[in-house]
Amino acid sequence: MTADLTACAPPVAPTPPATLRAHITTLLGKRRAGFAVARCAVFDYRDISGSLGSVAATELLDHIGGRIARCLGTQDAWAVLPDGDFLVVLATTDRLDERLAELVHAGSGWTSDVYGQLTAGAATARAGDDADALLSRADLALARGIRRGPATVTMCAPDLVADARARVALDADLRRAVEAGRLTVHYQPVVALDGGAIVGYEALARWPDQQRGWVPPDQFIPAAERTGLICDIGEQVLRQALADRRRYGGGRHTWLSVNVSPVQLDNDGFATMLLGELDRAGAEGDEVRVEVTESSLLASAHARAQLVELRKNGVRVLVDDFGTGFSGLASLRRLPIDGIKISRELLHDEQPGLPDPTVVRAVRLLAAGAGVTEIIAEGVESAIEVRTLAALGMPYAQGFHLGRPAPASRAFRWHD
Ligand code: C2E
Ligand code: MG
Ligand code: MG
Repeated sequence: MTADLTACAPPVAPTPPATLRAHITTLLGKRRAGFAVARCAVFDYRDISGSLGSVAATELLDHIGGRIARCLGTQDAWAVLPDGDFLVVLATTDRLDERLAELVHAGSGWTSDVYGQLTAGAATARAGDDADALLSRADLALARGIRRGPATVTMCAPDLVADARARVALDADLRRAVEAGRLTVHYQPVVALDGGAIVGYEALARWPDQQRGWVPPDQFIPAAERTGLICDIGEQVLRQALADRRRYGGGRHTWLSVNVSPVQLDNDGFATMLLGELDRAGAEGDEVRVEVTESSLLASAHARAQLVELRKNGVRVLVDDFGTGFSGLASLRRLPIDGIKISRELLHDEQPGLPDPTVVRAVRLLAAGAGVTEIIAEGVESAIEVRTLAALGMPYAQGFHLGRPAPASRAFRWHD
């Protein structure tokens, strides 16, 4: 039977959550498919209940619940879950997208002090489902929806489950690898274009995994940032790099640069940790560079304060991948930085084979005006690029042509 959406129908009363679950099991037993489950979250509900108190939060849930109920047909059912989410069972999948959009739209609105907004994740019942499987798919869809933002409807597509499973497995494998100290560090030289001497090494995290092979940083660094593991990884990379440098003689006359993600900078203890490691390794501040992204500097005053603290101790700050975000004069002039690494994308904007002279000149001019001294061209892949950059007065470069990232035993030997 098709749900009755007529405005004059009495609103459907809420069902206790356990009863609604039993109802889903019954529907699955009887009909196997042809209905849908939606889980809807109130945007920022924890902030609302935490700041305005449980009375205001309950008022908001009552209000939204009433509005949801008025959208439902007599065959549909809904419940308020203990965490403040709503669970809705739509008895038919007819016009499903449209009805979910209506639900989210109708469920959003003002109470006395708060504008509540809903986000919905939904899944349709499939043959072979049990209640757990169906509810988990709606949960996954909601999790994805919350990342997309308020007032969205996300259906559980087949790849959502596979993606989530892969992500959870990657997170677990990465945690095991970090706990067992299996991550390692490779080093890529930074070269002075005037003379060709190596002036520094960038430490790059590497994850060799029995099953997965070498997992690219582009995969595991985002996972580490999402799970907070990046703080442990950052510390391990720094400690390992300082030890390798001492052992293989990277030397006082070359700097060591480490990548620092916004999550690490947001962590109160970052500057103290870094300075502590330098102290333990007997290294001076000016032997180390931290590579940060421009967006992390612009986003957080807290991050900037930690960098100011590091700079007081001689550590220099480089903006990594300059030119991939909103790069601008403001960041060069106002942020606590000493150098920039110009991304390959910016250098090669017009002519893939050669650095664009206009870009090089413009960035050098900007940097000079802002008193930024260390300018490094990233991703240099050929001799002609090296010559062009040198002729344009670029002081430093890094890239496959000048040296690929390699383990310490090979990387530091280039130096001797
Ligand atoms: P990044 O800091 O910009 O590092 C430079 C990346 O460019 C490295 O990739 C390097 O292998 C690659 N590369 C070097 N020369 C060339 C070249 O000539 N051409 C091209 N096409 N690429 C070149 P990798 O090692 O895969 O690292 C990717 C990113 O992962 C890094 O980008 C950095 O943002 C992040 N990352 C790596 N290790 C760490 C770490 O220990 N901590 C944090 N927070 N991030 C890290
Ligand atoms: Mg870097
Ligand atoms: Mg870079």
